[in-house]
Amino acid sequence: MLDTSPRTVVLVDGSIESLTCAAIAMDRIEANNQSAKVLALSFFERSESAENHSLQQAIERQFEFLGCTPSSTELQASVGRLGLVKALDLAGPQGTILWGHRCTMNPDAIADTLALVDHLAGVARYSQPSYLVHFDLPLLDLTAGQVLDLASALGAPLGACWSCQHAGHAPCGECPSCSSWLEASKASGRPLPWVETPTVG
Ligand SMILES: [Zn+2]
Repeated sequence: MLDTSPRTVVLVDGSIESLTCAAIAMDRIEANNQSAKVLALSFFERSESAENHSLQQAIERQFEFLGCTPSSTELQASVGRLGLVKALDLAGPQGTILWGHRCTMNPDAIADTLALVDHLAGVARYSQPSYLVHFDLPLLDLTAGQVLDLASALGAPLGACWSCQHAGHAPCGECPSCSSWLEASKASGRPLPWVETPTVG
């Protein structure tokens, strides 16, 4: 029988943003008591090192959080526009693509991103007019602190993330990504599971 339940495709790249989108997808299904099918797609905006074991592990844990058992082909990352086209294909005619892409408060970057997804959804509709698939970018203009607040409100397991730009057993704590999350964590008072809280005394 043809499966016609609405689909949500979560773009999973192991980041805090993609985990937050995964938590949003799960929350929506619970809230609406939906039979929506959640699919995960391993996706990167740019080519990333496949050698980064910690990142791969974070991706696998986010797949598990979504209740998706990753096959080896699904874990082969889809990159850039081709990845987004693959997501459109997976989402099907009435689907939603949840993408944790974040431009913070950069209006040009926000406009470029919206133009890109609008273009891709338009191309999908052009080839198949019944396609109402849409991109959902809930974190697009959020700050790192706001993402931490949202992730925490949704009960997202932050341990299932790799937020560092480098490979390793633990985040380096010094790259721009690590610095930004550390700063947001301090400002919001929300601890990051991979950062040891200093003991007093
Ligand atoms: Zn780092």
